[in-house]
Amino acid sequence: MEFLQENELYINQTVKVSLSKRLLKFFLVNLSRITPLYLYPNKVYFIYSHHVFTDEFEKFKRSILRLKKKFIFIDIEKAIELSKRKKLKKKYITLSFDDGMYNNFRAAEFLAKEGISATFFVNPEVIQHSANFNYIKSHCQERLHIKPIRFLNWEDIQLLKNMGHKIGNHGLNHKRLSNCTAEELIEQVEKSKKCLLEKIGEGVSTFAWCYGTSKDISKEAIQLIQKGHSSTFSAIRGFYKNGVNYHYRDLVIWYNSYHRIEFFYKLNCIKQWM
Ligand SMILES: [Zn+2]
Repeated sequence: MEFLQENELYINQTVKVSLSKRLLKFFLVNLSRITPLYLYPNKVYFIYSHHVFTDEFEKFKRSILRLKKKFIFIDIEKAIELSKRKKLKKKYITLSFDDGMYNNFRAAEFLAKEGISATFFVNPEVIQHSANFNYIKSHCQERLHIKPIRFLNWEDIQLLKNMGHKIGNHGLNHKRLSNCTAEELIEQVEKSKKCLLEKIGEGVSTFAWCYGTSKDISKEAIQLIQKGHSSTFSAIRGFYKNGVNYHYRDLVIWYNSYHRIEFFYKLNCIKQWM
């Protein structure tokens, strides 16, 4: 196969960020290290990522082990339930992955070994075509803006389920829902869930919309998602708010330092105080 395989590296896929932005982040992240995490309120922290490339794997493992010391890992259903409670006695965390890249598999095995159940939001059409290089090439270019890489197939998805992970709906083929006609919405939301259920049986209860910002979703889309799913996930940073009909999630890039994960937790707390 022509896909990049075991030597897939984050560094090969990196988008350049300006030096001033990097310096500002570095400064803020280190500033937040002065205040320990236990000083911040107890919340349910939803984090997500897309990839754990080969050069990220060691950092990923180290970050997960550090998070395990400070948070209680729970599955997504429990996280949804706890996030709606007013007071919590502990800090909880739940992890999800979007897009179904094959490099998630190795991460999933490590998580299962650590007793952690993550959620994988996948596109059934992409899984169906995971061995078709031309399909994957244009999917990567047009929808994900990355070089072509390997994706999970149905057998892998079943194995993830057997490990105790959850499978979530990410739309049929990663279309931006805010641009969809009514017919296309049904395809992206309902047909996609049907395809997933046909392949893996039961247990597809959550939906994460593609691209994840408020501009990438419409009222109609949220209504349709809510008809068939227990919860809807964005890629907007923050904590759960009453009166908002979807969940926020913080993006994690494992290649970055562990302290960035804590930094965003702390920042979300500060935003809620303000
Ligand atoms: Zn996505």
